[in-house]
Amino acid sequence: MNYSIIAKKQHNDLLFQSLNTAMQPQDIDEFFRRLAAERPEPKTELNYVNAYTLLVAVVLSAQATDTGVNKATKDLFKKVKTPQQMLKLGEAGLKNYVKTIGLYNGKAKNIIALSKILVEKFGGDIPRTREDLETLPGVGRKTANVVLNVVYGEATLAVDTHVFRVANRTGMAKGATPEEVEHKLMEVVPKKWLSHAHHWLILHGRYTCKARVPLCPQCIVRDLCAYKDKTKENGG
Ligand code: SF4
Repeated sequence: MNYSIIAKKQHNDLLFQSLNTAMQPQDIDEFFRRLAAERPEPKTELNYVNAYTLLVAVVLSAQATDTGVNKATKDLFKKVKTPQQMLKLGEAGLKNYVKTIGLYNGKAKNIIALSKILVEKFGGDIPRTREDLETLPGVGRKTANVVLNVVYGEATLAVDTHVFRVANRTGMAKGATPEEVEHKLMEVVPKKWLSHAHHWLILHGRYTCKARVPLCPQCIVRDLCAYKDKTKENGG
């Protein structure tokens, strides 16, 4: 999902959340210490076999669930692992694999176009810089951040819908746009947690701090979170 769509979608929620207070630095450190203790090696839930297939999976995941993308790529990545193989498969062939994913027409077009650029301009490799990554069709700031983090181990923080919500709700990094939240998170998250912060926040948002009804009673960072309307045992 691109940044402007996420921002629009969560605008009303944000207005409500703006009443929250901000988290204190020591609480942010403790927040990640607990999430790290729970999941020492958090990983993306998108399946991939190498850097190229990760890039393809992330492009396919815009406005789609990881589970849905994984179902579609299970067979695709058995056959296609490189941009050269993707070009051989072609746009029509790719669509046959990904037609269950939302917006697959545009995504397939972008994947073929970016594969062509990878072959012609980058020798089939995945670029190492944000600038180069963002020249690829269908690759925006969030996707570039994911690739830089997962493939090249850089301490980038991709803000998807889960990260955006958790950062705002908890008072860790409030912002009206994903880019604003990203910059604030980069300032407030202690360096030692930065390389995994993106995955911890996503997983916390996906399984505990859920969009509609957060599971506050069972949340391991409940006492650190500044959300004013935490849910109670009865879900209210
Ligand atoms: S206490 Fe509730 S709102 Fe706060 S992080 Fe946990 S689940 Fe989210």
